[in-house]
Amino acid sequence: MKVKRLFRREDGKKVMEINVLPAKYCTFRCVFCPLGAQGTQTEEALRFEATETFLQDLARQIEKEEPDALFINSMGEAFINDRLGEVITLGKGKDLEVSLYTNGYLLGNPGYAALAHKCDEVSGEIKAIDDASFRKLQRPPAGYSLKEYIDRMVRFRETYRGTFTVYVTLMKGINDDPQSLQSIRYTLERLAPSRVVLETFTDGKFRDVWGIPEDKMEDLRKSIQGDH
Ligand code: SF4
Repeated sequence: MKVKRLFRREDGKKVMEINVLPAKYCTFRCVFCPLGAQGTQTEEALRFEATETFLQDLARQIEKEEPDALFINSMGEAFINDRLGEVITLGKGKDLEVSLYTNGYLLGNPGYAALAHKCDEVSGEIKAIDDASFRKLQRPPAGYSLKEYIDRMVRFRETYRGTFTVYVTLMKGINDDPQSLQSIRYTLERLAPSRVVLETFTDGKFRDVWGIPEDKMEDLRKSIQGDH
């Protein structure tokens, strides 16, 4: 867990990006995970000893760097750190905009949703668009379903008043056909995001298998979002 980097957003705001996990902990075991195949699959919040030192160091670094925003973008699912609430409170107490990156599944858990509600921005994700590819590519634990995943994000969105950003990963041969695009449009309608970020794989072996070329991405973007 550490401050990963400082950068300027398009709007000029200085962002401090942090990781609140000591290793990879996530609800899923995606085959395309940029963090690799190792890690712990869990949805349970855990106590990590290093968090105490991290919180002290983070407070110092915020004082020194004076960022405008804190971007919690961890090695997996940030909710798994049971002191995430203290990280959010620290940021809010210093008048920072707090943005939480999550895959969205745990937003259906009332305790985790309450933490997310304290943040100015929260994300969700759309990758697989049917249960077979959800199971095959994102490898959730037994009992998870894509319908439940989407429903959980929709329920959170219904009461969340901050910026809800949805990251959509487009994958060649998986979700780039007309029927899948229709499903993505429908899911986005239900999620009513404040912001949509369309992505594909642009590096290495994942690009070779699932990456979509830039010109085709533009067509897909128009198909999903229209001409605006
Ligand atoms: S949800 Fe993200 S962090 Fe978790 S396994 Fe999938 S790609 Fe990796």
